[in-house]
Amino acid sequence: MRTGGGDPIREAARILAERRNAVVLTGAGISVESGIPSFRGSQGMWAKYDPMEYATLHAFMQSPRKVWEMLTEMVSVCGFASPNAAHKGLATLEETGVVRAVITQNVDGLHQAGGSRRVIEFHGNLDELICVYCWKRYPTRDRWTPGSVPLCDCGEILKPNVVLFGEPIPWLAQEQAEEEARTCGVLVVIGTSAQVSPACDIPRIAKESGAAVVEINPEETFLTGNVTDIHLRGSASEVIGKIVIFSRDPTLQIPRG
Ligand code: NAD
Ligand code: ZN
Repeated sequence: MRTGGGDPIREAARILAERRNAVVLTGAGISVESGIPSFRGSQGMWAKYDPMEYATLHAFMQSPRKVWEMLTEMVSVCGFASPNAAHKGLATLEETGVVRAVITQNVDGLHQAGGSRRVIEFHGNLDELICVYCWKRYPTRDRWTPGSVPLCDCGEILKPNVVLFGEPIPWLAQEQAEEEARTCGVLVVIGTSAQVSPACDIPRIAKESGAAVVEINPEETFLTGNVTDIHLRGSASEVIGKIVIFSRDPTLQIPRG
């Protein structure tokens, strides 16, 4: 792949404009600027809640009230959050035909709130609750109030319809995500440490299928210098904002021959 010299953000915008079939993979980092902490890092949720104790299906089945201590914090924080400039910028790039889909590991619904239309939720969404005994589902707002533990009509404690460690990925989301990865021209990976399997396989699938991989993250990850072709070091809102501006530059539009 020709990457050339100069500003790497401009170069990424040029490749996006040229190929016009980008897919985006997002993680917790894109929502940090909306006030939702990521899981890893000193400010992350895992610094407070051990994931093996609070975020596995086994833990939920053993002590759902304890797991709801962590879930209560997550549902409350996400409930108050609004999409930031990065979520909105991706919606603009979809509208202008640069991005065709967003695959997200996030469970906060902020891509849809920011205007993205094709969103594949790899790990579910906190806006729905499910009973792991009778499989009845409810909108979270109908059953949950801050501080409460939501109950099913059958009397059991409801679980948010998100993927806890030890649970499978919803099959349709997995199929669609892999298909998008296999067929995209560019995969833009934003705000994920790429440590959660199987979501972390998506960049490799895209790369092996011939896509360019652009990574937006203030830090290096397992993908950087390995799967990533261009690492744009910076916050999601800052970098996406610049890509949106560059993508309006007519000199970046490469005529198709
Ligand atoms: P992670 O916490 O492992 O990693 C976050 C990444 O984002 C890091 O690499 C960090 O350097 C980067 N980052 C931090 N601030 C950023 C910014 N402003 N712009 C761009 N990047 C930034 O997150 P993960 O890889 O998504 O794995 C966490 C798992 O937990 C996911 O599977 C997700 O389902 C879940 N989760 C979801 C939310 C949410 O829905 N908002 C929040 C926390 C965790
Ligand atoms: Zn039930």
